[in-house]
Amino acid sequence: MAEEIVKIGKNKKSTILQMVKEILPDGGNLNACLTCGACSSGCPATGLEGMDARKFLRMAALGMDEEILKSNWPWMCTMCQRCIYVCPMKIDIPQLIFNIRAMRPREERPKGILESCNMALKNDTLSAMGTTEEDFQFVVEDVLGEYQEAQPEFADMEAPIDKEGAEFFLNQNSREPVTEPDEMVPLWKILHLAGVNWTYGSKGWAGENYCMFIADNDAWKHMVQVKADMVHKLGAKTYLNTE
Ligand code: SF4
Ligand code: SF4
Repeated sequence: MAEEIVKIGKNKKSTILQMVKEILPDGGNLNACLTCGACSSGCPATGLEGMDARKFLRMAALGMDEEILKSNWPWMCTMCQRCIYVCPMKIDIPQLIFNIRAMRPREERPKGILESCNMALKNDTLSAMGTTEEDFQFVVEDVLGEYQEAQPEFADMEAPIDKEGAEFFLNQNSREPVTEPDEMVPLWKILHLAGVNWTYGSKGWAGENYCMFIADNDAWKHMVQVKADMVHKLGAKTYLNTE
């Protein structure tokens, strides 16, 4: 009986893998996989859409570009970096995934994070809820006043905005000032009791960077720049990221 030989990816050249290798330092080691599976074992996206990190990398190596571009699995990656941390060959799977996301037309990327990115670009607070500088200041001062009055032991607690020379520049989840402002207070209390010198910035206070998750390079760089400029302007020593 004649043997049937199945050749996977015959005559295919992986333009995706090649392109990403050209972008990354040392090619992201993308050709060095031992297929050990360590990456998939601790990955929160393993099993979603019947996919995992090792399988995805094998598909890229086999030149299955069409399947890779169609897959929604790259959008389920949290960019947590666990895979590269445990990989014996330090293969940069998160960067492979990021660059594959960037290949999808912007308007076809997942609506939720796309709209949050677009909203964050509307003003320099970078709030994914579109909160303005004035509204943020109003909410912070209003909530602070309530707690100072209701809880005398926190009467001299502060929640400063644009304080110069603070040790920490604190960021803030975009949602809380709008939907659950009381949720901001526990951290203020901890910082107060610990005697920490901190501040919010009127610009760049929002902690998320949905534009990074949407793989919009110009947009996420803009967001990081606004935050960095504000930290430098205020002379804060440390950017304290709670997101
Ligand atoms: S951990 Fe690294 S070497 Fe092992 S399968 Fe994953 S990518 Fe390949
Ligand atoms: S970065 Fe993405 S692929 Fe890697 S472990 Fe995290 S979720 Fe999984």
